[in-house]
Amino acid sequence: MKETIKSKQRFAEAQKVMPGGVNSPVRAFKAVGLDPLFIERAQGSQIYDIDGNSYIDYVCSWGPLILGHAHPQIVKALCQAAERGTSYGAPCEKEVELAQLISQAIPSIEQLRMVNSGTEATMSAARLARAFTGRDKILKFEGCYHGHADSFLIKAGSGLLTAGVPTSPGIPVDYVKNTLVTGYNDIDSLQDIFEQWGQDIAAVIVEPIAGNMGLIVPDTAFLVELRKITEHYGTLLIFDEVISGFRTCYGAYQNLIDIKPDITTLGKIIGGGLPVGAYGGRRDIMERVAPAGDVYQAGTLSGNPLAMAAGLATLQILRDNDYYTDLEELGGLLSQGIIELLQNQGLDYRLNHWGSMFSLFFIREEVRNYSAAVSSDTVRFSKFYRVLLEEGVYFPPSQFEVCFISTAHSRKDIEETLQAVEKALYISQLG
Ligand SMILES: *Cc1c(COP(=O)(O)O)cnc(C)c1O
Repeated sequence: MKETIKSKQRFAEAQKVMPGGVNSPVRAFKAVGLDPLFIERAQGSQIYDIDGNSYIDYVCSWGPLILGHAHPQIVKALCQAAERGTSYGAPCEKEVELAQLISQAIPSIEQLRMVNSGTEATMSAARLARAFTGRDKILKFEGCYHGHADSFLIKAGSGLLTAGVPTSPGIPVDYVKNTLVTGYNDIDSLQDIFEQWGQDIAAVIVEPIAGNMGLIVPDTAFLVELRKITEHYGTLLIFDEVISGFRTCYGAYQNLIDIKPDITTLGKIIGGGLPVGAYGGRRDIMERVAPAGDVYQAGTLSGNPLAMAAGLATLQILRDNDYYTDLEELGGLLSQGIIELLQNQGLDYRLNHWGSMFSLFFIREEVRNYSAAVSSDTVRFSKFYRVLLEEGVYFPPSQFEVCFISTAHSRKDIEETLQAVEKALYISQLG
C-alpha cells in the first residue's frame, strides 16, 4: 500500500479551515471514497504527493496542461514576466499578442475580452447575449457545465454530477426560470423548445464536445441544427470551448466541423496553467462590451502579464509544433489498449475517446447524453479508481470527468497505464 499519511494529516487540517478541505469540490475525492492527495510538485507527465509517491497524471489540472507540468519554456516565460512585475492594471503588449493569436486561430473570434476563469467567460457571454438580443432566456443542455454562475447551475455536469446535486441552493427561482434545459444530442427536443420559446431565447450555450459528464462527442448533425435553428430565431449561439479550445486542434473544435458560433468562450489551455478565461466573437456583438459599448464587465487582474505570458508561450509552442498528431497517436494507443483489455476480460464497458481526451464509463450502453452517463456504475468505478491510484496512475477522481493526455506523456507512460488499468479492471469486477 502506498503511504499517504502526510496527505491525510494535511487534509484533516484543511477541513478545519476550508469547506470540505478544498478550494474546488471534485478535488476532495468524495466520489471515490478516498482522501485527496496533497501535491508537492509536478513535472512533465508526473505528479508527486507530499508523502513522496509519484503518479502518471491524467488530470492535467482538469485540462489546461496540454504541454504537461512545468514545461521549461513556460516556466521561463513566467519567470521573465514576474521580474517585470506581476500586474499593472494597465494595458500591456502581451494582452494584444495573445488576443491576436487566438483571433487568428479561431476565425469566428473577431474581438475578445480576457477574464480570469471559464466561469467569468460564460457568465459575461450570457450577459452580452441578453443585452444584444434584448431577450432573457438561455438554453443549455443537460450535463453540460459552463462554470458556476447562477444561470448555468441547472443540470450541470462536473462537480455537480459527482455530488449528485442537480442544482444548487442559493439561486433565486426567478433566475432559473430564464434557463431552459434540454437533452444533449437531441434534435427533436431542441426543435420543440424553439417552437415554444424561440422568440425569447437570447442564446444557446453548448459544449461542442461535452467534457463534464465524462466525454461525449455529439453528432455533427446536432451542432449543425443548433446553428440553423439559432440563426432562424435570431438567437445567438455560444460555443463553450473552455476545454475543447486548443485541445482538439490549434484553434477550436468549431474549426474542425466548420460551424461559426456567434460567441466562443475559452479558458484552461489559453492560460497555460494560470487563471484565465476569454470570450469573443462577432465584432458587432463584442463592441457592445464596455468601454466600446454599454454592457459592463471588468476585472482587476484581467489580462495580467503573468497569465498572458503563460498563455502566449503555450499557444506559440502549439502553433510551432505538430503536437496534435502526436497527441492523437498517444490517445489512440491508450484507448485502443483499454478497449482490448475490456475485450480480454469479457467486459463491455464504454470507452469514449476523441484525440487526447477519453472517459471510461462503467456502463454497457452507448453514452450519448446525460441520462446514459449518470446510469454508470459508480461503485465499480470507485473500486477501479482505487486500484489505479495504488498502481501510480492518477485519473480524475470521478466517473464524470475526462482524462487528458499531454505532450509530456510518453509511450512508456501509456504502457504502464495500461498495465495498471488491466489490474484495476480485474479487481473492480471482484465481489
Ligand atoms: C472548466 C469549464 C468551465 C469553467 O471554467 P473555470 O475556469 O473552472 O471557471 C466552463 N466551461 C467548461 C466547458 C469547462 O470545462
